[in-house]
Amino acid sequence: MNEREAVINELLKHEIIAEPEVVSYIIERGGIKYVREIVEKYGHLGYITYEDILPRAPVVSETTASGGSALQVTAVQEIRGGEGEKSSFSKPVAGEYDWDFQVILDASVNMKASGDADDFRKLFEDRYMRLRNIITRRVSMRGARSIANLKDGEVATVGIVYETRPTSTGKLMFELEDPTGTVRCLYSGSEIVLNDEVIGVRGRYSRSKGLIFVKEIVKPDVPYSRKNRRIEENISVAIISDVHIGSNTFLKERWEKFLRWLKSGKDGSETVKYLLIAGDLVDGIGVYPNQEEELEIHDIFQQYEALARYLEDLPDYIMTVMIPGNHDIVRNAEPQPALPGEIRKLFNGKVEFLSNPAVFSIHGYKFTLYHGGSLNSLVELIPGVDYDMTDKMMEYMLKVRHLAPVYGDKVPIVPLPRDFLVIEDVPDVLVTGHVHTFAYGIYKGVHLVNASTWQEQTKYQKMMNFNPDPGKVAILNLHEDRMYIREF
Ligand code: FE
Ligand code: ZN
Repeated sequence: MNEREAVINELLKHEIIAEPEVVSYIIERGGIKYVREIVEKYGHLGYITYEDILPRAPVVSETTASGGSALQVTAVQEIRGGEGEKSSFSKPVAGEYDWDFQVILDASVNMKASGDADDFRKLFEDRYMRLRNIITRRVSMRGARSIANLKDGEVATVGIVYETRPTSTGKLMFELEDPTGTVRCLYSGSEIVLNDEVIGVRGRYSRSKGLIFVKEIVKPDVPYSRKNRRIEENISVAIISDVHIGSNTFLKERWEKFLRWLKSGKDGSETVKYLLIAGDLVDGIGVYPNQEEELEIHDIFQQYEALARYLEDLPDYIMTVMIPGNHDIVRNAEPQPALPGEIRKLFNGKVEFLSNPAVFSIHGYKFTLYHGGSLNSLVELIPGVDYDMTDKMMEYMLKVRHLAPVYGDKVPIVPLPRDFLVIEDVPDVLVTGHVHTFAYGIYKGVHLVNASTWQEQTKYQKMMNFNPDPGKVAILNLHEDRMYIREF
């Protein structure tokens, strides 16, 4: 094995793929010994490009063409991107291309759910079947049997997790259920397992004890495969969330500054052809007690009307894609259908109204857009995360291939016969909002964006000692496959 192969093998051991230039860079700096340093610094990227490892300086563009003050481009080290835009783009190139937008999954369906136990059984059966199909494709799950057919000895099986509890000896005990039965499992490894997840287990089954001694937990996860996604056209997608129009803490000036930039078709906005909004478009009414004291617009239709007026004079080459959130006019339980016709008709121009969650493709890039209701429960259930690590929670969603893995009080779920919250197709970009912070990360080649808000701290958030991170826009350039972050 030559040195190049040795370095590549060492990277693969850490599930990292790197551009050839990166491999050369590592060899120049001592070869295999230097891999550790690279893994520590850039391992979280999964795929390391040469640009990732070059030092970068913060850039502030001084242009104020649309009357605002300087736009800041953050250059946080972990964020891929941060370079200033090339000044050679002077006219809006986004206007020269056709739209290429396809809905893959919309949950605004007219499915009946009466809410009785049978509906929930069907929902969980659907969740189980879809995720089992993903899990049993894994080599380590070959020969998996249903729970009723387990025989003494080495076994592999797939089920939904119930009643997880730590034992007095520091192990984890849980029940696993499939449509044929249930079995108790005892696990002493380090993998996190939450209730309602669908997982595979491998281990030793004892019929007399009615127990599997679990050696390995197999989560559905996403495969590491990074196709070359860079597209020919120089097109970008701007990603925002939680506008909360109608609230008296709506950040009107910063929002208008963002729109001026978008409309200018310069200073980096010339490539923006799509605008995604991940829910909580307006503040709504009666969402929480005494909300009326914090409203500036007291009529929900007028709130949407105000949003429609803001968006109506966007350049005609920009398509807006919107899903609802828990402040919007549709039912609170997930999946939430797209906004109703009486709201849609307020909007002019090219606007797509989809459900929460929704899956669609833009020029071949697959997007999963989810408002993010489950983040409130994941933050409590996943050890060691907090609200400024939403990308870690989104990683967890991909590992368990479900947007709201734990069924419970924080995320009301409609018991439809199909589980729309299963992440069936691996996205290129997973977007959430809802928690009013901002995060960007990459997990096994998938861009993770927890989009920011346009509402400043509310009284309620102040009491909860929660500090929002508003006014940030994530701009994904599909030509470069690179994320830029702008703050307004
Ligand atoms: Fe919100
Ligand atoms: Zn929300």
